[in-house]
This record gives sequence, C-alpha cells and structure tokens, in this order.
Amino acid sequence: MNKITNHMPTAQLQALDAAHHMHPFSTQNDFATRGARVITSARGVFLRDSEGQEILDAMAGLWCVNVGYGREELVEAAARQMRELPYYNTFFMTTHIPAIALAAKLAELAPGDLNHVFFAGSGSEANDTNIRMVRTYWAEKGQPERNVIIARWNGYHGSSMGSGSLGGMVGIHSQGGLPIPDILHIGQPHWWAEGGEMSPEEFGLMRARELEEKILEVGPERVGAFIAEPVQGAGGVIIPPDSYWPEIQRIVDKYGILLIADEVICGFGRTGNWFGSQTLDIRPHIMTIAKGLSSGYQPIGGSIVCDEVAGVLAACEFNHGYTYSGHPVAAAVALENLRILEEERIVETVHDETAPYLKQKFESLADHPMVGEARIVGMMGSIALTPDKAARAKFKADAGTVGYITRERCFANNLIMRHVYDRMIVSPPLVISKSEIDLLIQRAW
Ligand code: PLP
Repeated sequence: MNKITNHMPTAQLQALDAAHHMHPFSTQNDFATRGARVITSARGVFLRDSEGQEILDAMAGLWCVNVGYGREELVEAAARQMRELPYYNTFFMTTHIPAIALAAKLAELAPGDLNHVFFAGSGSEANDTNIRMVRTYWAEKGQPERNVIIARWNGYHGSSMGSGSLGGMVGIHSQGGLPIPDILHIGQPHWWAEGGEMSPEEFGLMRARELEEKILEVGPERVGAFIAEPVQGAGGVIIPPDSYWPEIQRIVDKYGILLIADEVICGFGRTGNWFGSQTLDIRPHIMTIAKGLSSGYQPIGGSIVCDEVAGVLAACEFNHGYTYSGHPVAAAVALENLRILEEERIVETVHDETAPYLKQKFESLADHPMVGEARIVGMMGSIALTPDKAARAKFKADAGTVGYITRERCFANNLIMRHVYDRMIVSPPLVISKSEIDLLIQRAW
C-alpha cells in the first residue's frame, strides 16, 4: 500500500478511513456512504481540511483546545520531555519531576483545600477513579454501606463502564450493560425544556430538592457522593437557574455527602474563571479535570482531591491506577499549557473582554425566529431551536433532526458547531479574538 499522506486524493483517504477506522459515537456505515471530512492541520481557531478549506472551529475540538492550535511552546515541551524521560510510572515508590510539578501547580490553582492530585489519562478514567475513591474513602471511615453515588439525567461524565454509568445519557445506558449498581440519577436543571409554567428560580429549587428526596428515599447513611458538572456541557450547555447550586450545596452539607464537580469542560477558563466551581460558587471535595488541562495537546486527566479525602486514603493502599497516570510527556505539556494560560492572562481576558463580547453577539441570535433561547457563560453557550418561541415548543420531527441539519449547514459554511438534539452549541478556543467572534456569528446566522 502507498504511504498514506495528505497528498492522497480525499476520496481515497475517506475510503481507507471507512474501511479500517471505527469511529467513536458514530454510525460506522455513514462513513462509507458520505466520507468524513479529513482535517489536516490547524492554527489559532482555524482548521484546514484536505480540500484546502479553512474552518472556524467554534468547538475547540471537543471543548478542549483552550489555548488554540499551533502553539510551538507545547510542541517544544513535549519534545524536551521525550528526550529527557519519555516514560516512567509513579507506582511502587517512584516519582518524576513533571508529575510533581504539575500536581503542585494544580494544588496552587485549585480553590479551597483541593491540594492533592490523582492522575489519569482522560476524563472517563478520572471519573472511574472517583467512584472507587469515594467508596474506598467511606469504607476506610467504617461506613462501607455508603456506596451510592447520585448523578443527573443527561449529565455526561465519560463512556467507560463507571463514568458512563455516572452519566445520565440513555443512549449510553442502552448498550453494554450500564449502569453499574448503586449509581442513581435525578433530573437536570433544564428550565427551558422542562420548566413548564414555573419560573426559572422555582424550577431550579425544585430540581435541587430532588437530590434531598433521593437521599431520603435511599437512606442518608447509604449515600456517598453527588456528582455534577457545574454547567452541563455535552447535555446541551444547560446553565442552571441561580437558585439551583446554592440549594444543592445546602443539601450536600446537611447530609455530609461528598460533592464531586466534574470540571472536565468547565475547568481551565471555560466559564470565565479558572474553574466552573468558582463561577457557580460551589465547594467540591473532588474535581474531575481533563481536556483544557493540556488544551488537548496530550491525553491527560485527573482528580483534584481535598485534604480530608486524601488524608483518609493516604493511610490505606489504594489499589487503583493506570500505566499512564501522570505520564511525564503529558504532564510536561499540561504544565506548559498552564504557564501559557497564566502568563498570557487568557482567563482574565476571557472574563473581562472576549466573553462579554461573545455574550452580546451570541444573545442577539435569539432574534432569529427559530431560536427559543440563546444562553452563554464564559466561552460555552447554546441556542435552542424551536418552531414556537412563546410556547418553548419542540420540533415534531425526531429529536435532533433539526439540530443535525443545522449543524450540517454550519459545517458546509465552514463553521463547526455541535448539536445536542435541537440545541446548537459553541465552545471556541479561549484565545478567539473579537473579529473571529464576528466571523463565528456571521457564519452561524
Ligand atoms: N466529563 C465531562 C464533563 C465531559 O464533558 C467529558 C467528555 O466530554 C468527560 C467527562 C469524559 O472525558 P474523556 O472523553 O476525556 O474520557
């Protein structure tokens, strides 16, 4: 076979892709009938495909390329680390400089007493760690029956057996024997779609109180933790009503339940602060991180853990870990990525300048007759497509058909937006400029 390069005709690349490459979250046969768009390079907020088209990536890859594409410093950091020490593990009384430095840096950046980091290769792995960590913590405290973890319908925490069970995506639960035992779900704070006649604040309180109802139904002595994304991302960028998180915080405090904030999307500047927990004013015991930690340049995730939980685990052998936990090259790249975010004041610029600009432009999309709401926090937003704004009605066609068509139209227009059912999402690189925001809105409209 000829060497496969970007000089090959696109149709040939597509045929090889369809024949041999099984794609995640996809119907494989679609790749044979239509052919995937082949992405060959990227700079800043733009991708280039094999036909030479320049595409504005308003999704930062999969919500992860926070510092934008083409950052030479990250390439250099990886190369330097590969020369020095390409791999070693941190099991069995060994450690290495990148893992030490990254853990210490994350402890400095994370709020409160979140001072300890358990590394993983991805967000899914980190959430699997969290399940075992929470259950081991309670067992070590002499309360092994506190096995139950409560999560939310339509939340997303990954697609492994554990993290997919925490998530509340029915499509994931319908395949492969999920959820695992003792993971329970409550409703999501999605006022626009589910709030009916209630005000957003009433609805937010009602949904938060489902947590207390579930705790009482199961028995507070059996509940170990509640996990949620500060703002649900893959579920459609569901920004909760203001009443929601204070009530959740009151409930977890009242019953002494661990709070896990899944910051895989919200972390590292996405909501306009370093962490979504700061934007939503919550005090988690554990934060899940991945994606923006390395801006997607290397696969890495982890759990940032508070003093109390880490202290209890420190006294036992925690039989858990991954070959690539704290991988030196991934850790070195993540550290360099955090340096860029900090020294270039990217989070501050998002907070003070570009996110307010994007918000003003993005919310103007609500003037479109098919847009029911347009909401955004920091650099993550979504619009609801509707046939009737006043009634907050859904399209009669299969859920997602209109969103799918809209996404395809955007794609043809060289703009990447994502659709979740009939919600259209943006989550651009945090370095997007005001003129690139204008282009985004122009291509979306
Ligand atoms: N948690 C959240 C909030 C996510 O959005 C995702 C991925 O989109 C994950 C966890 C899973 O991360 P990964 O795909 O790196 O396993």
